[in-house]
Amino acid sequence: MSSMMLPTIGWAGSINLESFNHDHVEGELLVLWKDSTSNLNAQSAIETKVQEIGAQTVRTFRSEGAKQLRFTSKMSKVELLATAKQLAAREDVVYVEANNIIYLTATPNDPRLSSLWGFKNMRVSDAWVHATGAPDIVVGVIDTGVDYNHPDIAPNYWNNSGETGLDSEGRDKRTNRIDDDKNGYVDDWRGWDFAAGDNDPMDTHSHGTHCAGTIGARGDNGVGVVGVNWEVGIVGLKFMSGASGTTAAAIEAIEYATMMGISVTNNSWGGGGRSETLISAVRKAGEAGHVFVAAAGNDTRNNDSTPTWPANIDLDNVITVAATGSSDQIASFSNWGRRTVHVAAPGVGIISTTPRNSYGPMSGTSMAAPHVAGAVAMIRSQFPELTPKEVRDLLISTSDLVPALATRSQSGGRVNLERAIAPQAP
Ligand code: CA
Repeated sequence: MSSMMLPTIGWAGSINLESFNHDHVEGELLVLWKDSTSNLNAQSAIETKVQEIGAQTVRTFRSEGAKQLRFTSKMSKVELLATAKQLAAREDVVYVEANNIIYLTATPNDPRLSSLWGFKNMRVSDAWVHATGAPDIVVGVIDTGVDYNHPDIAPNYWNNSGETGLDSEGRDKRTNRIDDDKNGYVDDWRGWDFAAGDNDPMDTHSHGTHCAGTIGARGDNGVGVVGVNWEVGIVGLKFMSGASGTTAAAIEAIEYATMMGISVTNNSWGGGGRSETLISAVRKAGEAGHVFVAAAGNDTRNNDSTPTWPANIDLDNVITVAATGSSDQIASFSNWGRRTVHVAAPGVGIISTTPRNSYGPMSGTSMAAPHVAGAVAMIRSQFPELTPKEVRDLLISTSDLVPALATRSQSGGRVNLERAIAPQAP
């Protein structure tokens, strides 16, 4: 159940109380004011109100004009909640929520379990008879960054065509400190770091690079491993520094992906509460045809009864993924949900790329999600006309039914990529 209520004209706003029960950033709130249009007068009126309450705007989100606010004086969590309640009681506020802290959905590794068994179970080699991916399908990895110099990633790494080549004065657009494509980001030629606010999405952990390799480590290049797609566009949308990030930075990454026409994102993170601002960003993404793949979480629990976010966002363009082991059992750590989890994919002892030209095993629904994000990219290369919901329905209907997984997801089984992309599949 949501703690949110729809705003009623002439009445006070609402507060997302649940978001304050999760770890959240000190002295920050996400607030949607009434009349948050792009109209300059309306914006300036809101900025005045922000200053009046002793805060400053860190970000304004594209989807609905909600704002990430930071209070200038130090505030305890109790004081922050009291301030949020006061704001929610105002007639010019729609809603108020905390800026949650988000964590990775990976677990410690067991190298003994490791092999490329996942591709075998998922019939990835059989799928390659039909298709091996396409460089114009772009997958955003919303994570800890991606090592774009890794020899198995670099050949498939995306470049923003609006920020490469030479500008009118003969300077390299990648480094001319000009927003050449006027998208609000200067020199974003290889993605963005939404945590630091700069143009370098290099992985400073290892999680994002591991996810990227499963989606699309270059195939047939005589190096290391291969991803679900031999060819694809990978872009690092870094929002975590170290192993944690914030809801606000994740939202900005999603809105960037929508703006740039990025077809699918992998979201191997969770741990915050329900966020109305995040949900509106994912809804806008879906309206633009974007598929949002989410890890189900690693809490060994039923998401139907205990919601996990963003996995439980109930929109047609969200695909939530549970993790399986090598004999198609549910992974010991994986969350499940007959209603709220859509499909299951390999996520135990998965070998993939790690930074500085290395490879290693990781486990988690974090590793299952990129198998599915990679599958979505390949489906899109084969069947570009499918809507996000049709892509999800296809993955569900072509999964291999497995009795042990019957009640674990809508599919009742494990993804079979060969069946999903066979010419007669949709
Ligand atoms: Ca730009």
